[in-house]
Order: sequence, then C-alpha cells, then structure tokens
Amino acid sequence: MAAGSQNSSHSPDEPGEFASRIVVCPHCKGDSVYHSSNSARPFCSPRCRALDLGAWANEDFRVADGIPVGDTRIDDV
Ligand SMILES: [Zn+2]
Repeated sequence: MAAGSQNSSHSPDEPGEFASRIVVCPHCKGDSVYHSSNSARPFCSPRCRALDLGAWANEDFRVADGIPVGDTRIDDV
C-alpha cells in the first residue's frame, strides 16, 4: 500500500501492459493493485482469492446439502 509514491509512470501507451490502478478487493474490501503483475487480480493477493473461492465452494456445498431429498414420499395408488 504505497501512498502517493508511484505517480511518475503515467504512460498508457505501454505495449502489452495496462496501467495499474487501485481497485477494491472483493474479499477483504481492501486496496488491490489491478495490474498484470498481480496474478490474483481483482483480488489483492492469492490468499484472498483462494479464501473467496473457498467461501463460494462451501456455500455451494451447504446449499446442496440443504435440499430435502428424503422428504419426497411417493405413495403408489
Ligand atoms: Zn484482499
């Protein structure tokens, strides 16, 4: 989290790269550097990305587990 120390490189015409900017990390809501060097973008770190994906997976499992499968009784008439 560098505060105001990297304002010198302002060249949008750089080939193969895009200008880095600060976005909000979807997991920890902190500052995240959106740049090609940040492989975890838009997350601030690989750890945040892993935790966020893990949370989604857990939620999926919980929803799947909550489906009342044994509640459908079929009476043969
Ligand atoms: Zn984060």
